[in-house]
Amino acid sequence: MNKCPICNHELKKIKNGTLQSKRKTSNGFKGILIENLSYTKCDYCNEVFFSPEESENYEIQLEKALEKERRCGHLLTAKEIKLIRKKYDLTQQQLELLLKIGPKNVAKWETYKSNQSPAIDNLLRRMNEDYCFFLKMLNSVEVRYFSNVIAKHSFYLENISIIELISKLYPDVNIKNLSKEFIEYVDKVIKNILSSTVEEQDSKLILKINLKGSYIENR
Ligand SMILES: [Zn+2]
Repeated sequence: MNKCPICNHELKKIKNGTLQSKRKTSNGFKGILIENLSYTKCDYCNEVFFSPEESENYEIQLEKALEKERRCGHLLTAKEIKLIRKKYDLTQQQLELLLKIGPKNVAKWETYKSNQSPAIDNLLRRMNEDYCFFLKMLNSVEVRYFSNVIAKHSFYLENISIIELISKLYPDVNIKNLSKEFIEYVDKVIKNILSSTVEEQDSKLILKINLKGSYIENR
C-alpha cells in the first residue's frame, strides 16, 4: 500500500511511533499514549493504517500502556488481579460476590475496560497478603455460591479462631506452611489451658503467648 486509499496521497512508513488512543472511563474519555508502534500514515488526511502484524503489536503495546497507567496510579494490573483471583481458585463472579460489588466488574478490570477503585484495590491486596483476612471474607458469603472454594479451605475455616491467634502473634508466619497437626495441637493446648487440665509447664508457655498477644482476654 503506497497510496492512501482515502485521499490517494503518498503514505509514510512509521517505525517506533507513538499514537494516542481515546478510552472511555467512568469519568468520560481519557487519552492514553501508546509507544513503540509501527504503522503507515497519510500526512494529508492523517489516517493511520496497520498490517496484521502491526495491529497485533498495537494490542500488545496498548496493554503495556494501560499497565503503566495502572502502576502510576498505584493500582494492581490486570494480570495481578487475575493472579490473586486464581490463587484462591475464584471465578470472576465469586470475586465480585466476595468484594460485594456488582456483576461484570472483575472482567472489566482484567481486560482494562475499567479500573478498580483505590478502596477495592486495597481489599484485593489485603486478601492477597493476609490469608486470615481472605478466610474472614469467605465466612461472610452465601455458601451456595462458594462450595468449591469453601471445600478447599474447610480445615482453615473450621480453625479460623486459632489461625487468627497464630497470625496475630506471629504476623510473618505463613499459615499455609504450618502443618495441620501443629494447628490442631495449638488449638488443643489452648483449650486445655482454658479448661485448666494442662501441665504447669505448658500453662506458663501459654501465659507468655497470652500476655504477648492479649488475644484470649479480648475475646
Ligand atoms: Zn489520506
